[in-house]
Amino acid sequence: MLEQNISSLVQKLRNKEITSLELTQSYLDKISELNPSLNSYITVCSESALAAAKEADIAIAAGTAGPLAGIPIAHKDLFCTNGIKTTCASKMLSNFVPPYESTVTAKLEQAGAIMLGKTNMDEFAMGSSNENSHFGLVKNPWNTDLVPGGSSGGSAVAVAAGMAVATTGTDTGGSIRQPASFCGITGLKPTYGRVSRFGMIAYASSLDQAGPMARSAEDCAHLMNAIAGFDPQDSTSAEVETQDYLTNLDQPLTGLTIGLPKEYFGEGLEQGVADAIRQAVSEFEKLGAKIKDISLPNLKLSIPAYYVIAPSEASSNLSRFDGVRYGHRCDEPKDLIDMYTRSRAEGFSKEVQKRIMVGTYALSEGYYDAYYLKAQRIRRLIKQDFVNALNEVDVIMGPVAPTTAFAIGSKTDDPVAMYLEDIYTLSVNLAGIPAMSIPAGFSNKMPVGLQIMGDYFTEAKLLNIAHQFQQHTDWHLQTPNMDKGA
Ligand code: GLN
Repeated sequence: MLEQNISSLVQKLRNKEITSLELTQSYLDKISELNPSLNSYITVCSESALAAAKEADIAIAAGTAGPLAGIPIAHKDLFCTNGIKTTCASKMLSNFVPPYESTVTAKLEQAGAIMLGKTNMDEFAMGSSNENSHFGLVKNPWNTDLVPGGSSGGSAVAVAAGMAVATTGTDTGGSIRQPASFCGITGLKPTYGRVSRFGMIAYASSLDQAGPMARSAEDCAHLMNAIAGFDPQDSTSAEVETQDYLTNLDQPLTGLTIGLPKEYFGEGLEQGVADAIRQAVSEFEKLGAKIKDISLPNLKLSIPAYYVIAPSEASSNLSRFDGVRYGHRCDEPKDLIDMYTRSRAEGFSKEVQKRIMVGTYALSEGYYDAYYLKAQRIRRLIKQDFVNALNEVDVIMGPVAPTTAFAIGSKTDDPVAMYLEDIYTLSVNLAGIPAMSIPAGFSNKMPVGLQIMGDYFTEAKLLNIAHQFQQHTDWHLQTPNMDKGA
């Protein structure tokens, strides 16, 4: 396994113990070795990565390097990258080369990070298993018969299998946390508005949020330092000052109050997952935290509310893919309507089409009040549940997902079972609060993620809590045995 601790890599690069060119080449070699079986990358940018690495080495030598200079990372393939194909894992955008750069990728480039490539995902970020990709499914490196989770499955696998030091992901209803949990890595979904959405291909705009995926909380803090902050190009970006996410990592946890919602430990939760989470919570008690039982009474409404709101927003966001301006266009259209219909029917997979239809229906006259408005009211209740709970406790903990990674193909014909995977993650997006997934043990020989949810803009606190746990446990250091796995 290649070294993946950003602090020590930065140190070694500065001390000239290694060069970024060597480091980048070693990651590209790992990608060549493993990507044919795991399918974690859609696009690998070998040439531009090596050229950027050479420049990073020059900048390091000159003392002008940014904080992440020379560190090889990868981006989920929905961040627009200027001049580099950005597909959103859809046939619709399979040849789309954006003429501009997303804020997240631009900021990481400014910080000196090297982009190895663009990672696989569920098409338009719709999914929980990374089986909905025009470029083929992604496999879990811990057991290649199992899914890696989704929608940021490619990003999670790249980190877990040592094909990138860290990656970016996006989380609309769990897409950073659930694949992080399934692949045994650390992921952070920041507060809505903390990280700019500019240049991210939109799924559900009021829920989408970008964040880091890496081996450890400390590595996530390095990425957050680069990407967090106000962006005038995103109208929902928060004008709230950022913090240095690395400085508070060592704060002791004495006196921390952790809330355990009873709804997170009920029916449907795999026993091995429950055991691992309880064990992790008792580790926090040893670190000085106090535990309190709490309730988030409207949790069960989060799935129906989310699966009205997200498809509604998606139906509006995806209306721009009409074959006219960009994206797939059908051959020899008879007329304009034929071109719209066939281009969309050919360009979008069944899952995406289903969501567009559900969303269009929910927003249509006569149904808007019954579905969309009602879902918005439920969203308000869910948000209020978190606000009330976070008045009583500092953070909330529970599992990320009810199970560990499941078998490829086992839920593809059962959308309800697939949507139930998101039961513990969706509510966080509906409320807009930040949350993390950190490795916290194993069940069925597969990694279990502990979810840590906090109040608005408390990312530094969450990273501190996660880091303290990782100073006292080694779950985050465990890596899949690739000889067996792949
Ligand atoms: N699994 C959820 C969905 O399919 C969440 C996806 C996401 O967070 N992008 O919508």
